[in-house]
Amino acid sequence: MADTKAAPKVLDDARGRLEDIYDRLDVSDDSRTRLSRPQQVIEASIPVRMDDGSLQIFPAWRVQYDLTRGPGKGGIRFHPDVNADEVTALSFWMAIKCAVVDLPYGGAKGGVCVDPKKLSRMELERLSRGYIRAMFDVIGPDLDIPAPDVNTNETIMGWMADEYSDIARAKTPAVITGKPLGLGGSVGRVAATGEGALEVLRIWVEKQKKKPEDLTIAVQGFGNAGYHFACAAQGLGFRVVAVSDSKGAVYSDKGLDVNAIWEHKNKTRELKGIIYSESSVGEEKGVEKLSNAELLALDVDILALAALENVITEDNADDVQAGLVLELANGPVTSKADKSLNSRKIPVLPDVLVNTGGVIVSYFEWIQNRTGDYWTAEQVQERMNKRIGDEANACFELAEEEDIDLRTAAYMLGLRRITKAMDDRGNQG
Ligand code: GLU
Repeated sequence: MADTKAAPKVLDDARGRLEDIYDRLDVSDDSRTRLSRPQQVIEASIPVRMDDGSLQIFPAWRVQYDLTRGPGKGGIRFHPDVNADEVTALSFWMAIKCAVVDLPYGGAKGGVCVDPKKLSRMELERLSRGYIRAMFDVIGPDLDIPAPDVNTNETIMGWMADEYSDIARAKTPAVITGKPLGLGGSVGRVAATGEGALEVLRIWVEKQKKKPEDLTIAVQGFGNAGYHFACAAQGLGFRVVAVSDSKGAVYSDKGLDVNAIWEHKNKTRELKGIIYSESSVGEEKGVEKLSNAELLALDVDILALAALENVITEDNADDVQAGLVLELANGPVTSKADKSLNSRKIPVLPDVLVNTGGVIVSYFEWIQNRTGDYWTAEQVQERMNKRIGDEANACFELAEEEDIDLRTAAYMLGLRRITKAMDDRGNQG
């Protein structure tokens, strides 16, 4: 996202939220100092032989923010705007997230500055394998375990795990999660981020004594997380009235056919055409076209943000009319926008809790790879709902007890675990 006044540097903004929370938790100076910078930042240039014979170089990063609670964990993002600042912020959030849901991991993240839509499948495979060759020494099942993120998927994770195993001369599926099932993936991983977010929302709605059937949802971002969330939300009875991708949004007050839109998007790669299409989601079904800004300003019960960071900033926070903001993406609301939403009593269910379904099922995949005991879809779903549900309830209770917003409560839960581990580990250095 653009680095404008309204869209601050993600890392500064991410760290800026901490000071108040440190004071509330009485965090030691040592822990504050340790958390003020990432533990390790690896920057590489990945050469890729293109199909036309030319050579291109892609800048790439792996950042391990904090590894006190276990090996690093976090996805790899392919995007033309990826940079060191963003990857570092994302690795910091991974550390918080893993601690919020008590996974035995530290926080890490990877990224490659590339527009993957411009690469052929073979070029994409060479880039993915090149990433592993560049990062081989710093990743591993007990060191740092990558996973999918924006624009990366199970196919890419399969290539990466395969490349690692080739170099290591040992089958090592536990080095990467989010793999295809045949290569040691877990059932339920693809839909996990969206379904975990829905479980948090379901518990929240129940606490408010409301019913899904009475509530409308707009979903900003219609990638893997946004689609699976929308689909599962419809299954529970919520009315999904709008969805958007980077080029525009579609709206119907009667509710959209989420699956038909997903099929259309997969065929054409964008939502834009839907409105004119003859398909079952076209104009004749009462579907209207909206701009992305209009979607963010819809008067819905729930605004689910499922794309990138810095979407609600101080510039557009006042436009938000939703009753609740649900963060499926990492960092979609800036800290200034947070303050403005808080002052208007619009609760934000925060990313570091809401989107942990993905990393929870990644953890399950890692366990399955290490034990060789593979679970059923029911086992995965039940254990994921329990893990995310217990921590969501803890977060809601803490927020109520201390009269604080939900983000502060979630950060308190996570930071308490991280700083306790730091203190237990003793004072090295
Ligand atoms: N990229 C996902 C996230 O931001 C998943 C990370 C993982 O599974 O390790 O949470």
